[in-house]
Amino acid sequence: MRSLIAVAGTALLTVPACGSTVDRSPQSAPAGGKLHVAAAFYPLQWLSQRVGGADVTVEGLTKPGVEPHDLELSPRQVADIQSSGLIVYIKGVQPAVDEAVQQHAAGEGFDAATVVPTLATAAHEEEHGEEDGHAHEDIGYDPHIWLDPHRFATIATKLGERLATADPAHASGYWERAAATAADLTTLDKEFQQGLTTCANRAIVTSHTAFGYLANRYMLEQIGISGIDPDAEPSPARLAEVAGIAKQKKVTTIFTEELVSPKVAEVLAQEVGAKTAVLNPLESQPASGDYLTAMRGDLATLRTALGCT
Ligand SMILES: [Zn+2]
Repeated sequence: MRSLIAVAGTALLTVPACGSTVDRSPQSAPAGGKLHVAAAFYPLQWLSQRVGGADVTVEGLTKPGVEPHDLELSPRQVADIQSSGLIVYIKGVQPAVDEAVQQHAAGEGFDAATVVPTLATAAHEEEHGEEDGHAHEDIGYDPHIWLDPHRFATIATKLGERLATADPAHASGYWERAAATAADLTTLDKEFQQGLTTCANRAIVTSHTAFGYLANRYMLEQIGISGIDPDAEPSPARLAEVAGIAKQKKVTTIFTEELVSPKVAEVLAQEVGAKTAVLNPLESQPASGDYLTAMRGDLATLRTALGCT
C-alpha cells in the first residue's frame, strides 16, 4: 500500500524538493520511499502538505464536503493509518480516527492538541450533553484549535520537529518549511488582531461552538447555538436562551456554516431581527483557496458583521 502511494506521489511531482537535499538513497528514506502522512481533516492536511512539502505524501482522511465530526473510516483508510509514518489528528474531533490511531498506530500519532494549551469546553455544552443524552466523548477540552492562527503556528513548528524525527534525512527541509508556515500564520494572527481591535459589537452567535479559540484570542464572545458536535439539535429552551442573549447584545448577524443546515440559524435570525452570514470553521476543504485565504475571508465577514473600523 505504502509503496504504491509513494510511487503515485513521485510520478505526480514535477517540482523538486526545496530547501532540502534530494536524497532518495534507501538507507536515508523511510521504508518504501517517501514518508507517508495521514491527516485527519482539512486544516491538518493543509499543514502537513505545507510543512512536509515534496518530502512526504499526504492522505487526507476526510474528503472535501464531508463534515469531519461525522467521519467513518473505510477499511482501506484504517489500513492507510496503519501503514503511515505519521498520523496528524486532534483527539476529540473524530472518534473514528482517535480509535484507529489508538488501536493500530499509537506510536505514530501526532495529536496537535498536546502541543498547545487547550481551553475548556463551553459550560452550556456540558449541561446539555447530559440533558439530551447525546453521547459525545467528554475529552474535557474544546478541540477546535486550528481556528487560532497563533496556536496553529506553534503546531506547525512542532509538526516540523516531529517530521524531522520520523525522517531525519530530510530534517532541514521540514524545519525550513515549518518556520515559513509559522511565519505566515503569525502574519495572519496580526491581521486578525489589527482587524478586530475596534468593533461596535464583540458577540458572535455561531451554528456550533467551533470558534472558542478564535474568540478567546481576539476577545470576542462566542454564543454557540449547538455544541461542539454540529449535528446535535439545539433544544427549544437553548434556542430561546440564545435569542434572548442575541437581542440583549444587539447582535446583527447570526453565523451559519456551509456543511450545517442553515435552518436553525435562519429561524433565530428572524426572531432576533438579524441577518445571516457564512463563517467558515475550516473543518473541510474550502471551495476555493486554502486555509489562509478562507481565514482571511472569515476576518472580512467578522469585520462587516461586528462593525469593525
Ligand atoms: Zn467542529
